[in-house]
Amino acid sequence: MSPDRPSNAPSTSLSSEVRPTGLTLETGIPICQTDLPLDWYQEEFRPYAEEYLALPDRTPETVLPWLDRYVVPAIEHFGDELLLLAHFYMGGEIVKLVERYHGAVSDSYVLALQAERNPEKRVIVESAVHFMAETVAVLSHPHQEVWITNPKAGCTMEMLAKDHMVLPIADQLIDRYGDDLLVVAYMNTSGRLKALAGRTGGAVCTSSNAQHVVRWAREQGKKIFFVPDQHLGRNVADQLGMDPASLLALPDPGTFSGSYRLEDVDGGLKALDAAEMILWGSFCGVHTVFKPEMVEYWKRDGRTVLVHPESPVETVRAADGSGSTNFLWKAVMDAKPGDRLAIGTEGHFVRNARVEGAKRGVDIVHLAEVPGSLAAGCGCATMSRNDPPHLAGMLDLLRRGEAPEANRVLAGDSVDEISGRRDRLSEAEREELKAEARLALENMITVTERAGA
Ligand code: SF4
Repeated sequence: MSPDRPSNAPSTSLSSEVRPTGLTLETGIPICQTDLPLDWYQEEFRPYAEEYLALPDRTPETVLPWLDRYVVPAIEHFGDELLLLAHFYMGGEIVKLVERYHGAVSDSYVLALQAERNPEKRVIVESAVHFMAETVAVLSHPHQEVWITNPKAGCTMEMLAKDHMVLPIADQLIDRYGDDLLVVAYMNTSGRLKALAGRTGGAVCTSSNAQHVVRWAREQGKKIFFVPDQHLGRNVADQLGMDPASLLALPDPGTFSGSYRLEDVDGGLKALDAAEMILWGSFCGVHTVFKPEMVEYWKRDGRTVLVHPESPVETVRAADGSGSTNFLWKAVMDAKPGDRLAIGTEGHFVRNARVEGAKRGVDIVHLAEVPGSLAAGCGCATMSRNDPPHLAGMLDLLRRGEAPEANRVLAGDSVDEISGRRDRLSEAEREELKAEARLALENMITVTERAGA
């Protein structure tokens, strides 16, 4: 089946940074990941889920006509004011569907810029995890609305770095080091932590520009507090040739409470004072399963091994290359017939890469598919909570003016991903937070563009 748009769907123009993924919907091949149980849907979304679950199969021939019933009227209703966004990890299904309806699919950096760079888009609907939608909201213009198709889609790395966990420790660090402390917040953080970075004169970073951002922070002679991914922090330090002894990792945040004191760090305050970079202890469960032995196995098999830098530093060192989601996808699309790759990143991404590579004679395996390995190379389960009924329901409810407030994303919202409930700041607090978080995002953009990255 060709990836044709519905003939009555309006055309939209997207920023030049968004490139088509090249993914196509194939006749007869199921387009949907594992169905969610009905009771996982918000009440407003259940009618769509019931219809969807009752469809006889998940092939494009069955799902697309059902989806068109809801999506096409919404596209016609909002016209060029509507922008759909999705992240690469969203199963091939939503990625392909969002592109089919003229949406943009990319990594978190490119997605973050889409509201700001497309001011004509008034209604922005994202199928991804919450921090990504919130970053779009931080950078959005006042007339733009940002919605997430499922508010229960949270990033587990970010969920181990909630503001109530990080801020008490950041306050102690600021008390001790004052202006000498600078916070670098990975994109996988809430707006509240991005604002913390802005307050300290710091910056946001992504997996593709983290080394430029950390280099910029070091050039200022600052002590760096890197949140939340300890592995990305270690990998960046490795790339920059920093002494591993200059890093101090805080414990797994699941193991301590808000009462953690700086005196409790390994080596005490002396070790803390000596550290050049302090790492928050969070991690991504999807990427930490990758081991150097897996890299060695596929290298012996004659493959080029590429990994995402949320993987442990020993694995990244052993691989032939590492980089962001866009870097990995470009490597797949640039591969030549006969090339053989092993890729260590999110499972849905690799499954799509494998299918697309096979069409061009490129043989791709998932890094974790090593005989005898217990690590399955799983997908990002929380990201996948944005499924076709959520996309159909979100757009239909928006068109009817009945979208639930729980799906509206405002800067500074603190979300409970279990219940989907959000704690919202007052307007004045939100404006203050947006200004601080924007500062950190703008510092990232300036550093990245100056580096030509
Ligand atoms: S793959 Fe990991 S880091 Fe990325 S969104 Fe999912 S849980 Fe978060």
